[in-house]
Amino acid sequence: MTTYSTISPAFDVYAIRQAFPILGRMVKNKPLVYLDNAATSQKPLSVINALNDYYTGYNANIHRGIHTLAEEATAAYEASRYAVKQFINAAATEEIIFTRGTTEGINLVAYTWGRQNVHAGDEIIISGMEHHSNIVPWQILCNEKHAVLKVIPVTENGELSLKAYQELLTDKTKLVAIVQVSNALGTVNPVKEMIAAAHQAGALVLVDGAQSAVHLDIDVQDLDCDFFAFSGHKVYGPTGVGVLYGKRAILEDMPVFQGGGEMIKEVTFEHTTYNELPYKYEAGTPNIADTIALKAALDFINTTGKAEIRKHEVGLLAYATEQLENIPGLTIIGKAREKASLVSFVIKGTHPQDIGILLDNQGIAVRTGHHCCQPLMKRFDIPGTVRASFALYNTMEEVDKLITGLHKTIKMLS
Ligand code: PLP
Repeated sequence: MTTYSTISPAFDVYAIRQAFPILGRMVKNKPLVYLDNAATSQKPLSVINALNDYYTGYNANIHRGIHTLAEEATAAYEASRYAVKQFINAAATEEIIFTRGTTEGINLVAYTWGRQNVHAGDEIIISGMEHHSNIVPWQILCNEKHAVLKVIPVTENGELSLKAYQELLTDKTKLVAIVQVSNALGTVNPVKEMIAAAHQAGALVLVDGAQSAVHLDIDVQDLDCDFFAFSGHKVYGPTGVGVLYGKRAILEDMPVFQGGGEMIKEVTFEHTTYNELPYKYEAGTPNIADTIALKAALDFINTTGKAEIRKHEVGLLAYATEQLENIPGLTIIGKAREKASLVSFVIKGTHPQDIGILLDNQGIAVRTGHHCCQPLMKRFDIPGTVRASFALYNTMEEVDKLITGLHKTIKMLS
């Protein structure tokens, strides 16, 4: 058997677990084994405390107030924007727009840039492994504009066919919208190469970073993507806050999204002039508390170290994959050469939902179903999968519990 190192001197998973109070709870009288991190990650105390500190210490609306609380809240909110800029290596804070999450970021681009730049006969390319959030907004846009939605096929092992992608790119392609890490397969797509190819064809690229932001080093300048969207709740931060990065020149040219307070410079009944970036896209009172707490989540990741986290997660994935492959009747869906730390599988003669319920009875939380990727499930001719997704606080012992739990479950179902 291969041995996998869990603990390096700089990374003590057991110490890290202490920072996540929820990991100490029991489920069905068993210690919780939380393997649904791709749906949402758990939150460290520093994030929970940041929320508490805001509401107990300096709750105020931002930007317009001149009193102390308003100034403190504004400073914390803008410090979070700076932390995000650093986290993804954007060129400027003006390129960081706070949203509700990945879904809202993608919709913002579809409703603004899309409606301005996509016309009848134009083409948008997505891939066969997109989350519904990166399919439906483009479908709505294409229907409205009589544009064409094209799809990069997925190979049997769960990778994108880059040859087919090259063939799909034409001078009609206006946008390529692709996921960097698949939430259903774990595949890490070669987005840097794909972006370069799209740019050569004259198209812009939006990267869905919902799953990648937590696992990979993100450098939007090195990737040269035009847009990058991710969600706070998948990077150990709160729900209800997300980020849309856009290149400054593109954001400057785009029409506004929602109208309201904060996004304006001057309003008369006849005419409105709009605010500067990034406020132009942040109408109304934003989600102040959760945005402030997002910084605590990013600080937590930075302090722990992305390289160390990745090493630990790669170890978990390799160990889990090896153990799962030994289970008779189990097929892993998605065997890409490069994967993030999640594994999707089906077991002959069983339904994913039954497995999920029986694992939950043993305190083990996994996700079952189509993972908001119905076309991908159709591609593999399956109703859904069981998905175990690992985070920095998961342990090899938890992988062992999953494997033991699966053996028990299979016995119960047979
Ligand atoms: N894209 C991918 C790849 C995802 O995994 C998800 C969520 O699971 C989303 C988009 C949507 O994210 P949110 O629901 O946080 O907007």
